[in-house]
Amino acid sequence: MPTTTAAIIVAAGRGTRAGGGVPKQWRALAGRRVADWTIDRFQGQVDHIVLVLSPEDDAAWADFRDTDLILASGGSDRAGSVRNGLQALAGHGVDKVLVHDVARPCVSAQIIGDILSALDTHQAAAPGLAVTDALWLGDDATVTGTQDRTGLYAAQTPQGFRYEAITAAHAAHPGGAADDVEVARAAGLDVAIVPGDADNIKITRPEDFARAERIMGTDMDVRLGNGYDVHRFGDGDHVILCGVQVPHDRGLQGHSDADVGMHAVTDAIYGALAQGDIGQHFPPSDPQWKGAASEIFLRHAVELAGQMGYRVSNVDCTLVCEYPKIGPHAPAMREEMARIMDLRADQVSVKATTSERLGFTGRSEGIASLATACLVKA
Ligand code: MG
Repeated sequence: MPTTTAAIIVAAGRGTRAGGGVPKQWRALAGRRVADWTIDRFQGQVDHIVLVLSPEDDAAWADFRDTDLILASGGSDRAGSVRNGLQALAGHGVDKVLVHDVARPCVSAQIIGDILSALDTHQAAAPGLAVTDALWLGDDATVTGTQDRTGLYAAQTPQGFRYEAITAAHAAHPGGAADDVEVARAAGLDVAIVPGDADNIKITRPEDFARAERIMGTDMDVRLGNGYDVHRFGDGDHVILCGVQVPHDRGLQGHSDADVGMHAVTDAIYGALAQGDIGQHFPPSDPQWKGAASEIFLRHAVELAGQMGYRVSNVDCTLVCEYPKIGPHAPAMREEMARIMDLRADQVSVKATTSERLGFTGRSEGIASLATACLVKA
């Protein structure tokens, strides 16, 4: 009979020790959230993935609602969160379950596979790294003694268990366990130690983000593209810039809605992909793009990036004009382009400059825009 496997990724923590003002699992790491990388590591390795989220994380609940993940609500402590995750798997016929810290995004397929295999012959198995450094006891900044390291291991996750056994163990545990291995042992389960991996780090401190990026760096592929566009002023009472309608005593001329900013950003993304430019994908000779909302172009570029295995990490757009004044509208422009690209506003920059009344922009004959896009391997 085939074995049914699952992973519970515990992402309900509110820990902000790693900096950034938001729980570490929602902070960016190499262009994506820590949690996204961690979830990806288990995709295709197990039959079901449960993501345990804090009941307060409204944005995360909304983001993952329409995915194939099973969502569970966090408990009052980590053990409560794991119990809720186990409960969410009830009725799925799960034989083997892995419990993993969301803050370990560098976990390898090798460790996941090793733990699952060990569960063929053990009720529980977990990765451990034999301690090789000498260990001291200390009081403030002074060494007060040494500790024999023989037989000591640093515990990692994913910790794996037979589903029924760990569910019963959690139900019987009085609470206060450091991890699920402690819960399992309290219930009398033998826990096999599987070799851990020094790269399977837990993001805890601010500097751990750079370390995790270095570890992941071997398969990173960063691409940059630039875009430049100009549209001429004509009759009208508003312009559309970066998706936002800005009142002005003139309009911009163009085949589409003449959104010069969004065109430059779109071309920057095409450029990063080496996939030509807007004119190539949406020929101006084709009447169906007359007056089109430029959102169509930008969305196409982002979708093409996804199809090619990339995601937009950030974009930066500069608008060059004397008028209209961009500053008051920049936050709305960032929000709008972030919405279209499915990014956060802090991944989208919109800024403006004049050209000191020099040249065509200085004479207010039109608006120019430059943009840079950074794409990373998805
Ligand atoms: Mg254009």
